[in-house]
Amino acid sequence: MGYTIDLHTHSLRSDGAQPAAEVVRSAAARGVCVLALADHDTLAGIAEASEAGGAAGVRIIAATELNTESAWGDVHVLGYFLDPADAALEERLRWLRENRGRRIELMVENLRRLGYPVPLERVVAIAQGGSLGRPHLAQALFEAGHVRSYDAAFETLIAKDAPGYVARVGLTPVEAVRLVREHGGVPSLAHPFTARDLDALVPELAASGLAGIECYYGEHTPAMTAACLALARRFDLVPTGGSDHHGRGEHGAPLGGVFVPPETIGALEARRAYHPPQVAGPR
Ligand code: AMP
Ligand code: FE
Ligand code: FE
Ligand code: ZN
Repeated sequence: MGYTIDLHTHSLRSDGAQPAAEVVRSAAARGVCVLALADHDTLAGIAEASEAGGAAGVRIIAATELNTESAWGDVHVLGYFLDPADAALEERLRWLRENRGRRIELMVENLRRLGYPVPLERVVAIAQGGSLGRPHLAQALFEAGHVRSYDAAFETLIAKDAPGYVARVGLTPVEAVRLVREHGGVPSLAHPFTARDLDALVPELAASGLAGIECYYGEHTPAMTAACLALARRFDLVPTGGSDHHGRGEHGAPLGGVFVPPETIGALEARRAYHPPQVAGPR
């Protein structure tokens, strides 16, 4: 059995390995009763997850994870309580998904020149219509026999410092936080330690509307969790947490595999009302 709350999961709608309904059913079987489906740059799995959640007694929180890459390192922003029917939001998410696709095309081209050819069509087929990402490319590299495992594809070819890597272009961290707020969602900073200089980043994001920080995460040591909790207290952020389950390779914890305190849900809901700080204008 796992814990009862998981606020960070992925399905086939982005780079997870299971259909959204199956993620919900597997989570329910492990004892999860509140689950946020947070597929990258899409809310496409929410309807399916909600239907499965209704049948399995799991409350589904509509969410997405917006990945940014900048001088701040990898800043990923989780957006909770977003509306899958929000057409203006969908338009922004579609743009981000198109950027994902172009980036993967560039990486495929890069890998071909390096001597590791994989057909782009195969990468797209592996994604099964979900937001394209490096996990799909990793699987294609493994299938083509260029690496001995899915995880080795990251280690040797497509991790940030590996030769096949191409950087992401898209939102800045502040833009990601604002995008979530502009659409009535509640933003939380995912796995904070993939970012650089948290002491400078967190106040900047908090001033832009950040409401949470992922303190409870599978790869966190107790010291890392404590450091995040200290930032949460200092900048009045809700400590959030989740498994980051993908069901691919060794990345992420099992569904419900990370303890998240029950008061987290109410605390996040209370942050839905947002009043941007008043900027003093010219008199
Ligand atoms: P992308 O969005 O294309 O940059 O890919 C990021 C995704 O790749 C993450 O959400 C994880 O699912 C996965 N990932 C990132 N780094 C690793 C790694 N070192 N090993 C396995 N999976 C990883
Ligand atoms: Fe992912
Ligand atoms: Fe992430
Ligand atoms: Zn994630």
